[in-house]
This record gives sequence, C-alpha cells and structure tokens, in this order.
Amino acid sequence: MKGLVVIALFFCATGLAAAQDAAVPAAKATEAEPPPSACQLRLTKVAVFKPIPLLAGPGECGAVDVVLLEQVMLPDQAKVTVAPPATLRCAMAEAVALWLREDVAPAALQLGAPLRGLDNFDSYECRGRNRVHGATLSEHGRANALDVRALRLANGEVIGLTDVNVARGWREALRASTCARFSTVLGPGSDGRHEQHIHVDLAERRGGYKMCEWDVREPVKETAPQDGQNAAKLTEPVPLPRPRPVASVNGASPAKKMRWQRRW
Ligand SMILES: [Zn+2]
Repeated sequence: MKGLVVIALFFCATGLAAAQDAAVPAAKATEAEPPPSACQLRLTKVAVFKPIPLLAGPGECGAVDVVLLEQVMLPDQAKVTVAPPATLRCAMAEAVALWLREDVAPAALQLGAPLRGLDNFDSYECRGRNRVHGATLSEHGRANALDVRALRLANGEVIGLTDVNVARGWREALRASTCARFSTVLGPGSDGRHEQHIHVDLAERRGGYKMCEWDVREPVKETAPQDGQNAAKLTEPVPLPRPRPVASVNGASPAKKMRWQRRW
C-alpha cells in the first residue's frame, strides 16, 4: 500500500513537472509575439483575420504587419468570405475591407442579393510584375496587392468583375469607386494580362499618382442587350478584342493615368 502511494506521488510529481515544462515555451511564445499594430486593432472591428508577424524574402520580397484576411464583416454583421484567405499587409487588408463594406456590398444589393464572398485570385506572391523573371518586384511581392476575379452573392450568383454581361453602368460605378480607393487598378485593356480579373494595390508613387486602367467593355454585337435585372448572370467567357494601347474610359476615371509603367 505504501509502495502504491509512493508510485502515485511520483506520477503526480512527474505530471506536474511535464505541465510546467509545457507551460514554459508557451509563455515564451506569448512574450515573443508582437502586440497588435494600430492597424490590426482597427481591422478587428471590420474583419476576421490571423496576424502573420513577418514575411521575409527571398530577395526583396516580404512585408511587416501582415495578416491573413479571412472574412470581412459588413455593417449588418453579415460576413463576406475571402476565398482563399488573402495574405496582405494590414493597411491593404484594411483598404480591401472598407472597399467591400462601403462600395462593393451596397453595389451588390443593386444586383439583387447581399454580398457574401470574394474570389481571391492572388495576393502575396514573390514575383516580378506579370510573373516576368527579373522584372521590377510586383506589389504582390510586398503583400500590397490583390487580384479579384468575382464576387459571390447570397443567392448563389457569381458576378465576374470583367463579365461583359453584367450591367455596364454597374461595372462603371464599381470601377469609379475602386479607382478612388486604391492607387493602382488594372483590368481589361491595361496590358493584356488582366482581361479576366482586376488587380488592386496601394503602391506609393511620387506625387501620389494613381493608375486606373480598366476598360468596361460592351458585350459582343451578337449578344442581345441585357437589362439590369438579368445582367448579373455569369456566362462563358466572351472572346475579347486585343487590348487597346490607350484605355478609353470616356474621361470618367477619377485617377490620373501613367504610361511609363505598365507592367504589373
Ligand atoms: Zn495583380
């Protein structure tokens, strides 16, 4: 009996020691974690995300204060899921969250259903612009850019941002608000590499110049005119004309255009 008590005490002590051992690294890890940035504290109110303390290399790639943006909360507390989650600098994640809350979600209601999802085509990726090896580092390599292909609505509809069958006026309004919010917006007509998705980033340029190159295209002539009610249907990709060297936006763009840097 006495032996049993000794054995029991031994295991209790061993278990306690193991628990203490387990607690030590956890405490160290907590100490090592940087406190949330001011940006992350703001982002907590409008998004669901995981902090990524540091993205480093290779080469020039990387960023500090990065988050994995999973969902954006709308003012009515409904959530918009970013799929797959986007790796972005916190400032860029915040810009995307506010864009979805203030511009995209109200616009989606005009198409007949609340916004529930955003298709992330690309976020952080260490590469040159347009995946050209040796080219100037893309803003994607700084976690400062997002490529968006489509939105998802609560009624199951998928809205392609470059889909010519989506009401033209709706796409023009979205382009205007998107170009007002981001410093670079590239879409169809920009360089031939953004025909089916929209690139947005927060690149900083001298003088605060912005690029807004997104042609809102018409359906091909054979297609019957669509009205605003049924225009939201995503259809098969329509063959597109060759990108024009100068985007024609009828002077509607709120942003200045720059021609000396066109590779993204
Ligand atoms: Zn891009």
